[in-house]
Amino acid sequence: MPEPTDTTRTAPFWIGDDHNLRARSGPVEARNVLKDQRDLAPEAIVIHYTAGASPESSADSLSDPDVKASAHLVLGRGGELIQVTPFNKVTWHAGKSEYRFGDGQVRKGFNGFSIGIEIDNPGELTATLGGHRTWFGRTVAADEVVEAVHRNQATAGFWHAYTADQITMVQEICRALVGHYGIKHILGHEEISPGRKTDPGPAFPLDRVRNNVLGANRRDETEFDLYPSPGRVTASRLNIRAEASPTSPRVSVPLESGAPVTAVREQNGWYYVRAQVAGWVDGRHVELDRG
Ligand SMILES: [Zn+2]
Repeated sequence: MPEPTDTTRTAPFWIGDDHNLRARSGPVEARNVLKDQRDLAPEAIVIHYTAGASPESSADSLSDPDVKASAHLVLGRGGELIQVTPFNKVTWHAGKSEYRFGDGQVRKGFNGFSIGIEIDNPGELTATLGGHRTWFGRTVAADEVVEAVHRNQATAGFWHAYTADQITMVQEICRALVGHYGIKHILGHEEISPGRKTDPGPAFPLDRVRNNVLGANRRDETEFDLYPSPGRVTASRLNIRAEASPTSPRVSVPLESGAPVTAVREQNGWYYVRAQVAGWVDGRHVELDRG
């Protein structure tokens, strides 16, 4: 069957017969760089930031035969798209990587079974008297600085906000990839290489994006309203998270053992509590004063 033309498509993105991305909004620059000749049957998508200065410079580096890193797609702040390598070929975006999936299965070596999407973003910023700076010395406008706690860190840091275009486009590109390849998992590099990697970082709404894209697979979720129910923390330290998920970003320093909380909602065993801040905690570590 011939590929439908742009005008017959309603989705913003789809995958061509050459395993390159197609965008309804316009052309995607395709480089067809093959640093690794192995075929890829994608089972997961890994989200990265480039830590670079521009999508072109990052794509150039990922295309450079002397650089031992590559990825499938680079996405600029203005929505620029560069397909470095087709989605059906192995790239070197993940490095040493390991993840325990929900079913308890542990998998390593994500390059062999995942697609790498690189979003143009410099990563963690340094606060200086002159403003917040990237590692390569560029000052980021104050209204583009996000202060947040990384899921792998204990204290807040400063991060460059992703653009609304980047977030929407990543979500819709993931939707196209999931539809085309039957992909089951969307993960951050920080989740498969914790300690070594911090991308995409807390400025990227990873939990929201994967819930939106993979939500049909997560029908186990149930949510109840609780009367405001007082209780206390039973764990020695308890993280407060933005969403009811162990991988969601922390919103504050952890609660200490015995700290009073008020639970107002419950979802999948998590309580939405009001403490010194409000957020989600694992309900197994809170004892509520209800009969
Ligand atoms: Zn990465």
